[in-house]
Amino acid sequence: MTIAVIGRGPIGSAAARHLARAGHGVVLIGPGEPADKGTHKGVFASHWDEGRITRALDPDPFWSAVSRASIARYAEIEAESGIDFFTESGALIAGPADGEFMRSVAAVQAEAGIAAETLTGAALAARFPCFAFPEGIEARYEPRGAGHVNPRRMVAAQTESARRAGAEVMEATALRLETSGKHARVITDAGDVTANRVLVANGGWANTLLPAPLPLAVYARTIAFFAQAPDAGLGDMPTLVYRTPAGDVPYLLPPIRYPDGRLYVKIGGDPEDTRLETPEAVGDWFRSGGSATVGDQLRRLIEGLMPALDTSAMHVEPCVTVFTPEDRPAIRRLGPRLAVAVAGCGRGAKCADELGRRAAEVVAG
Ligand SMILES: Cc1cc2nc3c(=O)[nH]c(=O)nc-3n(C[C@H](O)[C@H](O)[C@H](O)COP(=O)(O)OP(=O)(O)OC[C@H]3O[C@@H](n4cnc5c(N)ncnc54)[C@H](O)[C@@H]3O)c2cc1C
Repeated sequence: MTIAVIGRGPIGSAAARHLARAGHGVVLIGPGEPADKGTHKGVFASHWDEGRITRALDPDPFWSAVSRASIARYAEIEAESGIDFFTESGALIAGPADGEFMRSVAAVQAEAGIAAETLTGAALAARFPCFAFPEGIEARYEPRGAGHVNPRRMVAAQTESARRAGAEVMEATALRLETSGKHARVITDAGDVTANRVLVANGGWANTLLPAPLPLAVYARTIAFFAQAPDAGLGDMPTLVYRTPAGDVPYLLPPIRYPDGRLYVKIGGDPEDTRLETPEAVGDWFRSGGSATVGDQLRRLIEGLMPALDTSAMHVEPCVTVFTPEDRPAIRRLGPRLAVAVAGCGRGAKCADELGRRAAEVVAG
């Protein structure tokens, strides 16, 4: 059986690897990253960055389970492809000790038997002096199998691994689908592809291709980056997901080297959700460069949380997250020749290999 996978992102590239390794013919269709995003008129992606947090601990058992399944395969994907993408910096998850968030995290930890250390008060401050948490915060620290992945390199690794297993990789943007005939046809800007089945895995752009739109919500996200000197003393900084007493959920990544050669600490977690209703609005958002207002809010958050951090050189970047009403990825058959695998719900990079594996099973039947 030949399966066309549309979308060379974390989920599509993972699905292509699993399908190719299962012996299917695979054509993985997707464009590369544009050189100039400010003038780019084509599709964008949610993974064009150097850092995504990865961790087993989560308040939601589903997201923990798919993350653990994926993390267990990182080494295999790196070895198969010869491309590494995982940094085991450790991961911290924190929130009010008496709140629902940390209670749920504790329940998932106990149920799944995840190895993590619980820290509060002076012990937390001594263990992670870079953070200044207020009174009453509990943190759980995962030292192993957690930290961050480089999503660009992860996609490159999945793509290379799929290629080595026989997949064809096509540098193209899908414009239209025909899935009601004897074969499926994908019309792209670089020619047509005929296949037995099609898996649509193109993130925030899925509804531009599907015959009937799915109830997907695409949200504008702004991330703030702070340039750091190599000797900034942040060598032990883990990743952090933090439910603040005010109810915000910022997340932070330790210094990571970016293609401009500099090290950046990154914070995200928009205080408000701004929904992008059309593909044009998504494109305009990416071209806009992000929100300076949200950047200022994130700066205030990080200055409160990391008082010693150098915040003198900051810039912001835009991204989007894609949600379903159920807060679960949409991985399902939409017809005899068509399946979909989209909606990472703001945390779909770390667990993309498992989402792609499930999508491969669904589309292959
Ligand atoms: C700011 C931010 C921070 C995040 N932080 C984390 C984190 O810390 N940890 C985590 O696990 N997750 C995180 N996420 C979420 C994660 O990045 C996404 O869930 C993940 O990228 C979703 O993967 P995807 O393959 O569904 O979509 P995408 O990454 O968007 O990839 C889809 C691909 O499809 C391609 N495409 C689009 N249209 C077409 C078309 N018509 N034809 C062909 N190809 C097409 C695009 O070019 C793209 O390459 C974050 C997201 C954002 C925005």
